[in-house]
Amino acid sequence: MGKFIRSFCLFLLSSFFIFMKVHLIKSKEVDAEKFTDVVNLLQSVSGPIDFLFQPDAVINFEQDEMFVSFIEGRDRFEKQERHVYFSEVCSSKMEFPLERNEVSWDTLFSKCSKYRKQHRIANDEFVILLTDVANNKNWFACLDEANPYNGFIHTDDWDYFMECPEAFPIAYEVIALILQKHIFNGWIELRTKVHQKAIGCVSDLCMNKQEVMLKMRTADICNSCMQHIEGKLPMPVINHCLQLMNVLRERMLFVANRKSYLQPSKMKIRGKSIFLTDYNNTEIRLRPLELTLYLLFLRHPEGLYMSSLCDHKQELYDAYSLSSGNGSVEEMRQRIDDLANVLSESATQKISRIKRVFEDTIGSDLAQHYIIKGEHGQVKKIAIDRGLVEIG
Ligand SMILES: [Zn+2]
Repeated sequence: MGKFIRSFCLFLLSSFFIFMKVHLIKSKEVDAEKFTDVVNLLQSVSGPIDFLFQPDAVINFEQDEMFVSFIEGRDRFEKQERHVYFSEVCSSKMEFPLERNEVSWDTLFSKCSKYRKQHRIANDEFVILLTDVANNKNWFACLDEANPYNGFIHTDDWDYFMECPEAFPIAYEVIALILQKHIFNGWIELRTKVHQKAIGCVSDLCMNKQEVMLKMRTADICNSCMQHIEGKLPMPVINHCLQLMNVLRERMLFVANRKSYLQPSKMKIRGKSIFLTDYNNTEIRLRPLELTLYLLFLRHPEGLYMSSLCDHKQELYDAYSLSSGNGSVEEMRQRIDDLANVLSESATQKISRIKRVFEDTIGSDLAQHYIIKGEHGQVKKIAIDRGLVEIG
């Protein structure tokens, strides 16, 4: 009973009291939609942390605050200190020499301080600047050494290595900064005591893509970090962070999975069997005559009229003799003649059954890539990219 009352009190506390305010601001280059997505994600779980933003407040970098940085080659770039995620990026997508605009950390944090002053934001409220402009130390998120309630997040380039909208990792980094402020005593400790080797904790340093994914997939705070944070942050705030991390994790995985899930799988045809290798090697079971007709349409990506099937009897016959082997040559010829005869409805029925088998096996959304489709009286074809099809 006591536990229930305590939980209930925590619930009331977290529902009615704001323990912490986090002001999110963006620089001019950041896409308004991306910024709105980040805010919406963070506001999607109600709790004691209030995420605030001024729709009209946009930070501009002056010309003399930006400098052009030339990164001549991959090697030099990857050797830069704490390059965090760039080694992953440049190993695949970046072209060198690379030229980009950068600002210094001092500039980034002075923008936060200026905004804080202008809007009379209290000392213990966070001001976090989201910016597409890179910074001279190549970090993607950090707190200000002089005032750890100021922080920035670099919002560009995430799409190089995440299979989900960029708003997810950016929103996650907002929470990570809030927690890191309270896990570590000051900036030096933050710099030296983050987990150098990723363990799936919010304090992981994350030197590459896999580690960022791990951190987000676990959405966790390790025991050691939890011990540091307890007593420094009210429990409802920690719970709010954990809930948000969890929601982000679930939505991110849903989006990533759905995206890959909707992609067509490669198709391997071996003898009488069709396998969709990227869908767990799912087998599509067709009868010999259905497979014969299916192979004919697979071999004609341009599509075929039903009335023209009689022109492809030899192809049908060859395929059928490989996939069936049942009955005499005469019986087999008779079945193919029926199949090719537009008046017999045999082919139409088989196309319907092929559709049903695909839909029953992989669902109607995915089946669209594989079934034989076309308006009545028009060309019928299979949509799948033939580069994904292997017969033999
Ligand atoms: Zn930890």
